[in-house]
Amino acid sequence: MLELTRLVLLAASALFCNAAFAEAVNSSADSFESNSAAAIAASGACQQLQRALGASIVQSKSSGPEYSLAANAAWSAFNHEVNFQPTCIVFVKSTAHVQTAMRAIYQNNADYAVQSGGHSGMTGWNTIQDGVLISFSNMNATSYDPHTDTISMQPGINWGNASTIVEPFGVAPVGGRISNVGTGLLLGGGLSYLSPSQGYAADNYVSLDVVLMDGTLVTATANNQHADLFKALKGGGNRFGIVTQYIVKAVHVGREQDKIYWGGIFVYPNSSAEALLPAIAHFAHDTNDTNAVLATDFIASWSTTGVEPVIQLEMFYNGTAASFNESFAEFLAIPYTSSTAGPLSYLDLVNEVNFPYGEGNLFSGSVLAGVPSNSPESSDKLINNYMETYRLFNNFSITYANSSGIQSTLLSFTPVLQSQIRISYEKGGNAISPPMGQGGFNEVLFAVTYSAGVNQAPENIEQGRQFWIENTPRTAGLPLFANEADANQQVLASYGEYNFLRQVYAKYDPSRFNVRHTPGPLGL
Ligand SMILES: Cc1cc2nc3c(=O)[nH]c(=O)nc-3n(C[C@H](O)[C@H](O)[C@H](O)COP(=O)(O)OP(=O)(O)OC[C@H]3O[C@@H](n4cnc5c(N)ncnc54)[C@H](O)[C@@H]3O)c2cc1C
Repeated sequence: MLELTRLVLLAASALFCNAAFAEAVNSSADSFESNSAAAIAASGACQQLQRALGASIVQSKSSGPEYSLAANAAWSAFNHEVNFQPTCIVFVKSTAHVQTAMRAIYQNNADYAVQSGGHSGMTGWNTIQDGVLISFSNMNATSYDPHTDTISMQPGINWGNASTIVEPFGVAPVGGRISNVGTGLLLGGGLSYLSPSQGYAADNYVSLDVVLMDGTLVTATANNQHADLFKALKGGGNRFGIVTQYIVKAVHVGREQDKIYWGGIFVYPNSSAEALLPAIAHFAHDTNDTNAVLATDFIASWSTTGVEPVIQLEMFYNGTAASFNESFAEFLAIPYTSSTAGPLSYLDLVNEVNFPYGEGNLFSGSVLAGVPSNSPESSDKLINNYMETYRLFNNFSITYANSSGIQSTLLSFTPVLQSQIRISYEKGGNAISPPMGQGGFNEVLFAVTYSAGVNQAPENIEQGRQFWIENTPRTAGLPLFANEADANQQVLASYGEYNFLRQVYAKYDPSRFNVRHTPGPLGL
């Protein structure tokens, strides 16, 4: 499959490669030399960049000490050097460097990719074969401005570090639920522990510095001439341009010692699964309390004796233990084996769970309507969708139980509450634009994690994952979630503002350079 992706990329690049430039490159290429059309275009861009920015900022495999570190920095091992060797990596230090990089990439018709936190679950999205990789590892400045009550972040920061830097001010950005995930989360909309009260993470943009495909820099805000781009980047992904600075609203979550939340991780036995699924469906539909937040992980881990299931729910309430107990009553009535419940700060929430680096990962997504708890007769069919989703997840796990390549599988439901949807519209709307007035829903993630050392998903297991994608129930009219989907799913087409997105893309990238030259969501 990777080979196929590469062939398609090579073919696309070959079509658009600037022949005259390639000839010039061929005559002088040394450390970037290669034969394919894409590689030749990338060589041209890399040489131009090395001349402009110097050898410590633009590194090739043979020339740079940090090359291999960066080529293996992605969270998913499938995006490591064993599968993708960028022709060069540009370790940008400023917006001006990104502009220079994009000018060279554009002029050479080269392929490129961007890496911020490196947590993409899509193979080949945050790295590139025979292309230029722009690494934001040296651009991670983060600060809080008390006058404007905003947080400024460069793309290379992750949510744990961003939240820690601004913690002394008692504020936080609306960001990821896992500390080492990066700012790319915003471009996919972003679901946060703060989302029930603040909307999607991207709803909290104040201004964005964006480098367009030809190197032009624009600043987009809700009210300036780039307001369309500003809205498109709330969920539309990476192909509109490269964001070099995010200024976002600060949320006043208190200091570390304030412990404004109550809750923790609740571990349930597998026998509780079928009671938990309706509770998750009811929570998404019915919850109006913006202080309650839920994340769910149904995990199957592979061991020598077979597959061991674990169910782990993260339940938090911005308030007292009594309010927590009331909000999560349906979950607390279901037998669980342990809990870490107690007082927590927002920073504690962000640091509560983590997923290790260095294993191959593939994501797939679906979306299910929430189910009202007070209308059981109409609910049965809807609850069955949750049961069927879980059954297909279990089937996959049991079918491949003896596979030595898999380490674990994960099924996770993330509620998007009605409050979150309403707040998104109140804050100006985003590209995702879920329908109002139908109650909340659950974004569904099915992830397969391979053991360290497995570099590609075996084809038979991939077929099983595709089977899940094709057969798992999905509620029509609800948006898929770009951050938790398969690279081949038509996520953008499921958005309420899909036509708007296409128009904005056509305006900002009329020659469709980015669709042709950088990996990203389908449908533009
Ligand atoms: C363990 C784990 C936990 C997660 N938890 C959450 C969660 O709680 N909520 C949520 O919403 N999502 C979550 N995600 C999904 C995550 O938000 C996305 O994978 C996101 O794209 C990661 O951003 P990144 O900067 O870490 O990744 P990268 O891999 O660096 O980037 C991902 C994509 O964004 C593009 N991109 C990154 N930065 C820029 C930029 N500055 N300009 C233009 N394009 C850019 C890249 O081209 C790439 O295609 C999680 C993922 C993992 C693996």
